[in-house]
Amino acid sequence: MTNPVVKCSVDTCVHWLPDDACGAGNIDILDEEAKTSEDTKCKTFELRSSVANMVGGLDNVNWGGMVREPFQEGHQITPSVTCTVHECAYWASGDRCEADSIEVFGSSANTCEETDCSTFERGS
Ligand code: SF4
Ligand code: SF4
Repeated sequence: MTNPVVKCSVDTCVHWLPDDACGAGNIDILDEEAKTSEDTKCKTFELRSSVANMVGGLDNVNWGGMVREPFQEGHQITPSVTCTVHECAYWASGDRCEADSIEVFGSSANTCEETDCSTFERGS
């Protein structure tokens, strides 16, 4: 079963890590009716704004990846991906993403609506 490597530049998110990594255990990419990448979003985005939400974000953390990955050359911490964007060419049944890697984008995002999966490609 494939799982893309996630690169994310949304440094306002509580799950964001240096080198554009995502420390979440799993991310949810939506939207079922997306026609362009701007219509997609990372629903797991949480604004890095307060201690309360930093602590709240701790129940979705890739702790195994944090401990394991830095010691393996060529490996990167990456979450599992659940995606409901059926319109995307990389979408596969079971809400999986078959791309080798994805890029999540959203500079200065304050809400998940301001984030995109920029790897989205309209399927035929
Ligand atoms: S926006 Fe999504 S992919 Fe990016 S760090 Fe946050 S949870 Fe991870
Ligand atoms: S590339 Fe497509 S299938 Fe993969 S996460 Fe992005 S929108 Fe979903």
